[in-house]
Amino acid sequence: MSRVNAIVLAAGSGKRMGSEIPKQYLPLNGKPVMVYSLESFAKSSVDGIILVVAPGDVEFCQKEIVEKYHITKVVSIVEGGAERYDSVYRGLLTSESDIVLVHDSARAFVSQKVIEEAIEGAEHYDACVVAVPSKDTVKIATPDGFVESTPRRELVWDVQTPQAFSYSLLRGAYEKMMADSAQEGITDDAMVVERMTDVPVRLVQGDYNNIKITTPEDLVLGEKILSNNS
Ligand code: C5P
Repeated sequence: MSRVNAIVLAAGSGKRMGSEIPKQYLPLNGKPVMVYSLESFAKSSVDGIILVVAPGDVEFCQKEIVEKYHITKVVSIVEGGAERYDSVYRGLLTSESDIVLVHDSARAFVSQKVIEEAIEGAEHYDACVVAVPSKDTVKIATPDGFVESTPRRELVWDVQTPQAFSYSLLRGAYEKMMADSAQEGITDDAMVVERMTDVPVRLVQGDYNNIKITTPEDLVLGEKILSNNS
C-alpha cells in the first residue's frame, strides 16, 4: 500500500479579498474557509496532512483550527514562504510519502470523489491535475492587450487543485527548479513538472463547484454551494 500525504496550503495573504483577514481564515457559515478543506482530506483515504501556514501563524492554527475543529491526520504544521511555490517546497521538505497531493485551502468544496480520483491519477500516471473543461472561449493576448490567438475550446481546461504526484517526481522537479532558479511565472505544481521533467501530466475530471474562494463574491457563492450540498 502506498502512503499518501496531502500538503494543504494556507500561507497566502489573500490580497484580492481586500480584507485584513487572509481569505483562508474568513468565516463561511461560521467556520473558517480552510477548515472545510482540512475536513475533506481528514475524511478521505489520505494518510497524513501537512498544513502550510503564514509565518508566525503555526501556534494559532494548531489551537484555533486543528484543535478547535478536531481535525485529524495533521502530521505537521509548517511556515510557508513568500510565493506559493516556496510554501509547497517547504511542505515537500517536511514529509516524505509515495504519493503527494497539493491543495489550495481556499478550494473549500473539494469532494471525496475528486480527492480519490486525483490519488488514482497519480498512481497510474505519476502526475495529474484536477481540471474542468473551460466554459468560455479563451484568448491568448499580446503583452499590449491585443488578441494573439484563440485555442480550440475543446482543448482548454481550467485547472484546480488537488494536483497529485509521485512524491519523488515532484520533489525532484522542485529541487531542480530551485537549483536552476527557474521559478519565474510558476503558478501551479503541474508547471514545475512540465518545465523540469518530461513526464506528461494527466488531466483528471474535476468539479465546477470546486471553486477557489478569492474575492468577496466567492464567499456568497460559497454559501450557496454549501446550502445545495446539505
Ligand atoms: O494566491 P492564490 O489564490 O494563487 O493562492 C493559492 C493558495 O496558495 C491559497 O490556498 C494560498 O493560501 C496558498 N499560498 C501559500 N503561500 C503563498 C501564497 C499562496 O500557501 N506564499
